[in-house]
Amino acid sequence: MNLSVKILISMLIAAVVGIIMNKFFLDNEFVQAYIIGQYGFFDVGGTMFIKALKMLVVPLVFCSLIGGIAGMDDMKTLGRTGGKAVAMFMITTVIAIAFALTAASGLEIGKGFDASVANVVEVSVNDAPSFGQVLINIIPSNILGEMASGNMLAVIFISIVIGISIAHSGEEGSRIAKWISDLNEVIMSLVNIVMNVAPYGVFCLLAKTFAEQGFDVFEPILGYFLTVAGVLILHYVGTFSGIFFLARLNPIIFLKKMKNTILFAFSTASSNATLPITMLAAEERLGVSNSIASFVIPLGATINMNGTAIMQGVATVFVANAYGHDLFFVDYLTIIGMSVLASIGTAGVPGVGLVMLAMVFTQVGLPVEGIALIIGVDRLLDMMRTAVNVTGDAAVTVVVAKSEKQLDMDVYNDPDAGTYEPIDLSSHEHDHGHIDKA
Ligand code: ASP
Repeated sequence: MNLSVKILISMLIAAVVGIIMNKFFLDNEFVQAYIIGQYGFFDVGGTMFIKALKMLVVPLVFCSLIGGIAGMDDMKTLGRTGGKAVAMFMITTVIAIAFALTAASGLEIGKGFDASVANVVEVSVNDAPSFGQVLINIIPSNILGEMASGNMLAVIFISIVIGISIAHSGEEGSRIAKWISDLNEVIMSLVNIVMNVAPYGVFCLLAKTFAEQGFDVFEPILGYFLTVAGVLILHYVGTFSGIFFLARLNPIIFLKKMKNTILFAFSTASSNATLPITMLAAEERLGVSNSIASFVIPLGATINMNGTAIMQGVATVFVANAYGHDLFFVDYLTIIGMSVLASIGTAGVPGVGLVMLAMVFTQVGLPVEGIALIIGVDRLLDMMRTAVNVTGDAAVTVVVAKSEKQLDMDVYNDPDAGTYEPIDLSSHEHDHGHIDKA
């Protein structure tokens, strides 16, 4: 059975188990203490899985990006690739939010909604960093400190400058480059090992979500939920297919090969935690060169959030309507601008979309408490929008790679390229130089 099928089955079982727990055992002390609650079975299994993914991110980005940069023939490629990627991230985000605003205002969602329920729930959201602060934080004052705290833009910066230095350090540089590329292979094997346990990790994460997620919260804001979900699907199918057509690539192949990555993104609700899987899919399944994938994917996981922008657009219109607050054309432009900036300033971790939403609300003069109206259904939407965020990162990476002639079309068109084969932990007799991927 292939990995995606296993993960899908475990998701289904998790949904059934979680819903049963939610309906019948939510108040049971034993179930709360040992299964659903903090340090219960689901919590321990799910958190261990997410941590196992997260522990791979910094070493993987560091080794893979240094290798990619050191191996580049011409450093001008780096600037050009970065420029194209950032431009496409922004364009796709603007398209996403424009869809969201059009749908939400067209459907007039939130009109007549009783906003007074918002006072019942207390919302506390931290401020997101300002754009200037984001720029300052890119340069580390302590390399190891930034790596330890997982500041992704700083890790990308460090890796790029070390990669450039290696390329200019002659023979000593090549020795280090070889060593780092060997280390990269080892980390890739580690990713494969973590993927072996994905069906169990995903089970714990989803079972916990479903067990905790009361379904009554959906009823009053079903319109909001369905609008966000609908626009996410529209963007997923429409925009991504559109840019693939423009790049003369078959979008169906892309979407099929993203299956595992999407399942990981959905279950973890974190673009960052999914990063190792996205990188494997881009390089091994889709044929993107290491130098492009190792640069554009981590950048995208940090600054590109199409799905989050969609939630923000719909949420802003919904809350404005619920509070009877008129939005004018300039407000729509502010929402678009803020969403793009907000996604650059915040990392791809669960729930961060709400932090960014608070920034958007403040800019257009909506009360931040309005977030309480939608918070109940946010976890499920977070899972869905993370899948869109991650797909957007990979889509831009493939298209940029194609434009730079760094996409291996034989790999892209081969349905079996890089299909996942589990590592047999009972034997060391496998080929260390080649790892099969997601
Ligand atoms: N969870 C999302 C991500 O990691 C961000 C968000 O919308 O909260 O991409």
